[in-house]
Amino acid sequence: MKAHEFERWIEQLRALTRRQREQVKALLAKDDDGARCSTLIESRLGGDGGCPHCGAKSLYRHGLAGGLQRYRCRSCHKTFNALTGTPLARLRKREKWLAYGQAMLDSLTVRKAAAVLGVHRNTTFRWRHRFLTWAKNDRPAHLQGITEADETYLLESDKGSRRLARKPRKRGGAATQRGLSNEQVCVLVARDRTGQTLDFVTGNPSSTCAVQSRRFSSGCESRPASFAPAGSNRSSHGGNEMAEAFGVEGH
Ligand SMILES: [Zn+2]
Repeated sequence: MKAHEFERWIEQLRALTRRQREQVKALLAKDDDGARCSTLIESRLGGDGGCPHCGAKSLYRHGLAGGLQRYRCRSCHKTFNALTGTPLARLRKREKWLAYGQAMLDSLTVRKAAAVLGVHRNTTFRWRHRFLTWAKNDRPAHLQGITEADETYLLESDKGSRRLARKPRKRGGAATQRGLSNEQVCVLVARDRTGQTLDFVTGNPSSTCAVQSRRFSSGCESRPASFAPAGSNRSSHGGNEMAEAFGVEGH
């Protein structure tokens, strides 16, 4: 909007009734959520990574589209924004993404989140899968320096599997055998002092310590200078054993 048009528009605001004022306020608040989300996306992704189509670094700003800065590549002349080439590209209703992120953190089901946000369940279903794809791919290439690792065992979930090799468990359920067995799956989580985190599913508990060590080492830039198994372990396949595999002393 041009400056003089904006001034005239502001003048007209004085003529609004109370009800109209409330409507404008609600509309601006809604837009605010969208703008907040767009700012967050821009601050994280910007366009610094170069053109997602050809990788060229030379680009220029090319207007706004859908509240996001659009760029144009000098090399291939294609346009893109911060979300092009990511799982969140072309998703609508950006003003509700942050609220949906909170709904995911609150473990709301797809249908419940749809009811809370006032969108169709197909929309929250699509968002859930796209957001999770992003989270899955958002991994650092390497961990650096002092790195701590710990493993945990979860009951293996076959949700969505069409051929279930065991009796179905209801509502999470419990293992049929005590202690560790092949009903569990081992998840190894490692974090360095900058907060970068890597996780690996290393298989059933019967998978050896050496397998876990290999996974962990592949995620480190070099052989870790210091390896600290974090916390206590629930099994004999614990971090101390892993530390021994690295030939370093646990803290
Ligand atoms: Zn390009």
